[in-house]
Amino acid sequence: MERYLVRSDEKISLKDIDPGEIGKYKGEKDDGLERLGELNQELEQLQELLYAQHKHRVLIVLQGMDTSGKDGVIRHVFEGVNPQGVRVASFKVPTAEELDHDYLWRIHKQTPRKGEIVIFNRSHYEDVLVVRVHELVPEKVWKKRYDQIKEFERQLVEEGTIILKFFLHIDLEEQKERLQARLDDPTKRWKFNPGDLKERARWDEYIEAYEDAINKTSTDEAPWYIVPSNKKWYRNLVIANILVDALNRLDMEYPQPAEDLTGIVID
Ligand code: AMP
Ligand code: MG
Repeated sequence: MERYLVRSDEKISLKDIDPGEIGKYKGEKDDGLERLGELNQELEQLQELLYAQHKHRVLIVLQGMDTSGKDGVIRHVFEGVNPQGVRVASFKVPTAEELDHDYLWRIHKQTPRKGEIVIFNRSHYEDVLVVRVHELVPEKVWKKRYDQIKEFERQLVEEGTIILKFFLHIDLEEQKERLQARLDDPTKRWKFNPGDLKERARWDEYIEAYEDAINKTSTDEAPWYIVPSNKKWYRNLVIANILVDALNRLDMEYPQPAEDLTGIVID
């Protein structure tokens, strides 16, 4: 899975990365789903430990074009985890109050506490993506944000937060099918936003903005992963794998009781 990692010294180009890739699971979707089931269980146990130990904080950033599957990842990768220790923060068009503050204000408020996993459904990266593409602030303002974001994330990491950032990589054709499905399927229609078509028309500009964001802010402490996401099951599998590996590396332990419990008898 490390091949999806963007190293800090690397400069990626999204056109070189196949969004339809399914790794070693060639045609074997069922194997992939079975493996995801195992990872779901492993994640459940690791999250329990994370919560009990109350030491580390985990921040997961999900970014991607409309329909790339951010909601699907939240639903499928975190299936079964204890809702008590996991929280989703979704970042929409900023409110008037949020716009009155600096762009990181609303973000910092949502960062995880000890023992918690927080999933960002969109994030501070919107402030160098949609904001850049639509020139919502002048270039000289957004250009400074890459360094600001790196510094912000570095500070979170130094204080004990693990940060994993995922770009869900789909292509134009796949987005077309998914938007069409939103139109055709009455249970998906509520997700169809005519505004998404305007964003789709600016696909190339978004790709450029994403490449810049990923290349400028993938660091050793807060890396980006580019996740092939045309196949939903593979996308979920990749993210679950990377997350489980990262949590295993923490070498967590259940906390010791505050006092010696030997000899206690419960009548
Ligand atoms: P959705 O994720 O489909 O609910 O849509 C949320 C919308 O909010 C997307 O179109 C985002 O681009 C937009 N959005 C999120 N953050 C910002 C931001 N900082 N400035 C402007 N638009 C934003
Ligand atoms: Mg949307």
